[in-house]
Amino acid sequence: MSSAPTGRRQRLPCPPYEGPARCPACAGARITGAVYSCTPLAVPELVVDVLCPICGGCGRATHDGCQPDEHGEWDHDDQDDDVDDTDACPSCRGRRWFPVQGWTDGDADMHTLRMPCGCATTLLVEVTW
Ligand SMILES: [Zn+2]
Ligand SMILES: [Zn+2]
Ligand SMILES: [Zn+2]
Repeated sequence: MSSAPTGRRQRLPCPPYEGPARCPACAGARITGAVYSCTPLAVPELVVDVLCPICGGCGRATHDGCQPDEHGEWDHDDQDDDVDDTDACPSCRGRRWFPVQGWTDGDADMHTLRMPCGCATTLLVEVTW
């Protein structure tokens, strides 16, 4: 007996790539193409992308002009005075996702997952694979 997949999955799409030199590993996709199911029993299921470990999530080969918040590693220790966008979500500061460490099955490598923030619910798109 095989379990029938429900076929309904949602994911947070990446913004389109802008810039000259694309990361050789992901070609500007920002992600590896691997996905991780974070709610395997839910309908629709929420799948998250694995951030490219080479560029860190910005999709660029040279980190010229990337925004700090494009990377999984986001250093924003003492930059509170820079936040002038009062509409930004206080949890993700407008980034719409969080970097979350995770492991895939049967794989010892740790990945950084692009976990959607609660404020990104309306941005999720349904995928059918
Ligand atoms: Zn990359
Ligand atoms: Zn970068
Ligand atoms: Zn948020």
